[in-house]
Amino acid sequence: MKLAKSLQQIQPSYIREILSAAQAEGVISLAGGLPDGDNFPIALMAQSLIDLPTKPELFQYGHTAGFGPLLDYFQKAYQLPENQSAIVCTGSQQGLDLIARAFLNPGDKVVMEAPSYLGALQVFGLAQADVVSIEQQAEGPDLEQLESCFAEQEIVMFYAVPDFHNPTGVCWSLEVRQKVAALCIKYGVTLIEDVPYRELRFTGEALPLVSSFCPDHSLVLRSFSKIATPGIRLGLVTGKTDWINPLIKVKQSADLHSSIPMQAVLLDLLSHGEFDKHIQNLRDLYQKRYQVLSDNLNQKLPSGCELNSVDGGMFVWLTIPDCDVFDLAKAALENNVAVVPSSVFYQQGAKITPALRLNFTNASEAELALAVDRLVEVINAKCTC
Ligand code: PMP
Repeated sequence: MKLAKSLQQIQPSYIREILSAAQAEGVISLAGGLPDGDNFPIALMAQSLIDLPTKPELFQYGHTAGFGPLLDYFQKAYQLPENQSAIVCTGSQQGLDLIARAFLNPGDKVVMEAPSYLGALQVFGLAQADVVSIEQQAEGPDLEQLESCFAEQEIVMFYAVPDFHNPTGVCWSLEVRQKVAALCIKYGVTLIEDVPYRELRFTGEALPLVSSFCPDHSLVLRSFSKIATPGIRLGLVTGKTDWINPLIKVKQSADLHSSIPMQAVLLDLLSHGEFDKHIQNLRDLYQKRYQVLSDNLNQKLPSGCELNSVDGGMFVWLTIPDCDVFDLAKAALENNVAVVPSSVFYQQGAKITPALRLNFTNASEAELALAVDRLVEVINAKCTC
């Protein structure tokens, strides 16, 4: 059978490939976007998991929008206004796919920051959208570029990760948030605000969601992969009910609904008295690991390389001028450290900054220090900075 045209253009995910190579004996991986597996809140979920067999009703088919008590919880927890509602998805990744299927036609223009989340590039590629890249700066997207793009082209949506971006770790400033929201309102562009790392802030005050400044022009994607576990595959989309209803329609044809037993377990976890403490522990753990990685890199990197500083999330971005970072990442893997080259995070044809994405949440402090030694060795051998 011939592949659908939409799939012919999609490259296999380099990250998935590198992740399997990164599991080899002796390799320290800074490549994946994996939370720390030793700190999953499994103990906090244990009682609900044990109780599941006493609740056979949870194992029946359920509503497509999600498990009722969990939806009620979200309505309150996120203080959704009356005209808004939520749909539970099989990971926020599915939420993004549902949005693309519900609201995009081939050739429709979608704005993304460059670089951007690989999984979103794949979704918009499959939807055959025309992706327009806007350069990302230290405090968010280049606003001048964004406004001229909104003014001159017919843009359907702007997909963005304003809190501790994947891959760069950048967090938009308050001013950028307000200005982007104002531009979305002015030009009638829908903001797709993807916030899987929002709760992982380890310094500074949380900033308002961009969508709080343009609630009628936005959809918010949330994920429970980083604060609960990725394996439960639960995420959420919130926004105007008029826009959530089409997502429910698409999800009916995708998978009918996400796992009801897992949604019940997630509800118990989110309501657990110790859950806030679990998140605080994660923030402390990740902050320490980030500090070890950045201190070691800043001490050992040759001049010319530039590491950004982050206030949360799971990634830092290491810029290495005049370097073939794809080649560098391959050499690093041969030296037993896995990293991801920046080129995989750009739309085809976009101007690429030579850089590496480094994850700091899944390796121990000792492993991070050793990984830096191995990486710096390869940078010194391969690059002229
Ligand atoms: N959006 C971004 C920006 C991500 O980095 C990820 C996962 N790494 C996702 C969405 C998908 O998350 P989930 O596990 O909820 O599907």
